[in-house]
Amino acid sequence: MTSVESCQDEQPLEYLAQYGDREFRYHLCYVPEHKKATIRVHVHPNGRVQVDAPKDARLADIKSAVQRRARWILKHLDDIAERHRDVRPRQWVSGESMLYLGRRYVLKVIQAPEQRKSSCKLIGGQLRVQGKELHPEQIQKAVRQWYRDRAVEVFQRRLDLMVESLPWTTTAPAWRLVEMQTQWGSCSPEGTILLNPHLIKAPTRAIDYVLLHELCHLVEHNHSSRFYGLLDRFMPHWRSVKETLDGSSEMIFGQT
Ligand SMILES: [Zn+2]
Repeated sequence: MTSVESCQDEQPLEYLAQYGDREFRYHLCYVPEHKKATIRVHVHPNGRVQVDAPKDARLADIKSAVQRRARWILKHLDDIAERHRDVRPRQWVSGESMLYLGRRYVLKVIQAPEQRKSSCKLIGGQLRVQGKELHPEQIQKAVRQWYRDRAVEVFQRRLDLMVESLPWTTTAPAWRLVEMQTQWGSCSPEGTILLNPHLIKAPTRAIDYVLLHELCHLVEHNHSSRFYGLLDRFMPHWRSVKETLDGSSEMIFGQT
């Protein structure tokens, strides 16, 4: 992280960059040519990513410069998120960030005196909790229930899709949600799959990896080379997906 003067542009341009499973926004500031001749990337302590570029730089060159530093940027953003998590426990107030399918959404709390039953909905970039006299515990409860509902729906849909492509299954096996501290999923010897509802915060491909992992256990009950052979066959890139998922587990579990 480098300290840097803030952008002088009134309305800096905002762009979205992708790296693997993840994405981040950055602000592009054009600076006078005489000042800086190269494209420079800074991550501010508040998590804002700023890219300074000479006025005549081509957008394609700027984008590839950002892409080359994406890993570095994400590392800094993770460090910042981690620090914020340590110093600031969730307050369940508007403005806090909520993860869903690998993306961040902003929590919005709307006090609605006329509404008897509180609701939780994803609208645009916001996770909106609306209800009468909402206190942090009620907001947390509504959000948790929303996550569970979404998990039931999404996991079932992904399972249904996945079993079609696997030769040893025709219908999705029995499964249920269980909050676990250290595991994303498990498969009992009887073939019942348990899935961690927190997994709904991870990107779809990470969910698919966990589902495939557990479905492979229906055939291979331990982590034998035959088991990994199945994973390789049906998700050749599973290792990088697993690595990304494990790397974000602290962030995901910290978001209860
Ligand atoms: Zn396993």
